Amino acid sequence: MGRYIGSVCRLCRREGNKLFLKGSRCFTEKCAIERRSYAPGQHGQARPRISEYQVQLREKQKLKRIYGLLERQFSGYFKKAARKKGITGENLLQLLERRIDNVVYRMGFCSSRKEARQMVNHGHFRVNGRKVDVASFLVKDGDVVELKTTSRQLPQVQASLTAAEGRGTPQWLELDKANFKGRVKTMPTKEDLTVQVNEQLVVELYSR
Ligand code: SF4
Repeated sequence: MGRYIGSVCRLCRREGNKLFLKGSRCFTEKCAIERRSYAPGQHGQARPRISEYQVQLREKQKLKRIYGLLERQFSGYFKKAARKKGITGENLLQLLERRIDNVVYRMGFCSSRKEARQMVNHGHFRVNGRKVDVASFLVKDGDVVELKTTSRQLPQVQASLTAAEGRGTPQWLELDKANFKGRVKTMPTKEDLTVQVNEQLVVELYSR
């Protein structure tokens, strides 16, 4: 299946949660969840019985949509997480959080993960001095992420950095706003996610 090109606010309404897919609008009263906090579509306000499978599926869809991934990519992360030592669910969250598009969004250089992915693909960022233009690149402890000198005056970057001040920088990252740089201090944990996700349900879904 191809990439979703419909209204992203519908995705939040379907999951019943703010997934922060639309940049600064997500923090205003124009947010669709604030105005219509029920599922989209003709039967959105109905209350059907929800099976265990549907609960697990919704949790997986929520996580997949937050990071803007296709099913194939997401199941790839799950397999990688299952192969690693430790708890599969936590490994999965950590792998998703370590993606470079997520990291530059979390540092505040971009207003959404979608914008971050585009900026990474267009080669605006460097990791440890080397250009990285693949959004799935995984950062590790101690990596230094930097915005290219010629991109520093872009109006959307300035606006994003100002808007991000309110959200703050997660504890696993460090931002040097004056030099358009950030450092990965440590690996992320579940507590660093902005949306509450029950990753165990995702593990149960893939273990069926
Ligand atoms: Fe739309 Fe953002 Fe609100 Fe989601 S959180 S419904 S993407 S405005």
